[in-house]
Amino acid sequence: MQPLTEAEIRGSFTNISEHELERMTLPGLHEIVWEDREFLGWRDAHAIHRGYIVYWREGRPTGILLKAGGSHARPGISAMCTLCRTPRPAGQVTLFTAPRAGQAGIDGSTVGTYICSDLGCSALIRIVPARSEMLPDPDVLVASRATGILTRLDSFTNGVLR
Ligand SMILES: [Zn+2]
Repeated sequence: MQPLTEAEIRGSFTNISEHELERMTLPGLHEIVWEDREFLGWRDAHAIHRGYIVYWREGRPTGILLKAGGSHARPGISAMCTLCRTPRPAGQVTLFTAPRAGQAGIDGSTVGTYICSDLGCSALIRIVPARSEMLPDPDVLVASRATGILTRLDSFTNGVLR
């Protein structure tokens, strides 16, 4: 993805109150490898039940505030993140809810989905088998997974913005 500045990130949120925005803790942007990401996702270091996703949507930085619910999928069974579709142990996938943008969100309306607890989907989809003539080209595989993440993220964001 194209890099984002702190000002772009802070200005990108569609479903956050001024108070929540003031209290948002950003990750260390100098440590981010932007070219290996579809979106910037992080948990708030000072309010761990909060998560954030920011990505480029139709050429504009678009941020979504997420709140982690208490519920994981049942222990012992594997769960799947709706964004990267990686099967993971249940404890590593969390039900996040996003307040809807505008008055609907102020009135308490939310959109929920299961996402990797650490919002680290971009790292997971880059885990591929070693290059081999018997297997699909790893670069093609990652590119197709990346497209999938962005398509499903757009669809989730549509629900938040609707
Ligand atoms: Zn994921």
